[in-house]
Amino acid sequence: MLSSLFTRRPAASDPDLFWTPPGTTVVQRYRNTLGPLEGAIVLVYTSASDRSSAYAAACLGCTYRAARNDHRARLGEAEAADLANTHAAHCRAINRGLPAISDDDTAVKIVRNRLGKLRPYGPSAYPVRLTDFLEDRVDLQRDDDFIKQAMFEIARTDRSFLKAAPAYSGDTGTRFLLQPPPPRK
Ligand SMILES: [Zn+2]
Repeated sequence: MLSSLFTRRPAASDPDLFWTPPGTTVVQRYRNTLGPLEGAIVLVYTSASDRSSAYAAACLGCTYRAARNDHRARLGEAEAADLANTHAAHCRAINRGLPAISDDDTAVKIVRNRLGKLRPYGPSAYPVRLTDFLEDRVDLQRDDDFIKQAMFEIARTDRSFLKAAPAYSGDTGTRFLLQPPPPRK
């Protein structure tokens, strides 16, 4: 009896199995085809602070990231789980533990790249939400404050790109508004 208990005990490196990217809540985990010991893990997660119903899937063994479906719509939990499961069925990446953590400069670049992709064509500004960074969370490995600080810095140095504005009354904090590119002459 005891030995069967022990065989089910997590191995020493198993904290990695329960890793949660900062700023997210992981709701499901899948193992890829290589099996219970060697296979990389595919996460299904949502933003921890932004109370939204948007979910993402990301593989810790390869570059697979998904936060939108084929129709560019955000993913619900079932849809994200479906994508994660499908990826796990085909991925052959081995489990190397946690993905390498990026340095601060690289992390700021990830934030900036995402903002660049979200920039509206116009005429209205686009209000940025933390959910917009869902796809980047495994690579960023930074908390919400880091993302906000990075946006403050971008807004300070490049106001034609991103503006910081006080939140609506009744809300605390700051809104970040992506500006449409200036009209071409
Ligand atoms: Zn993979």
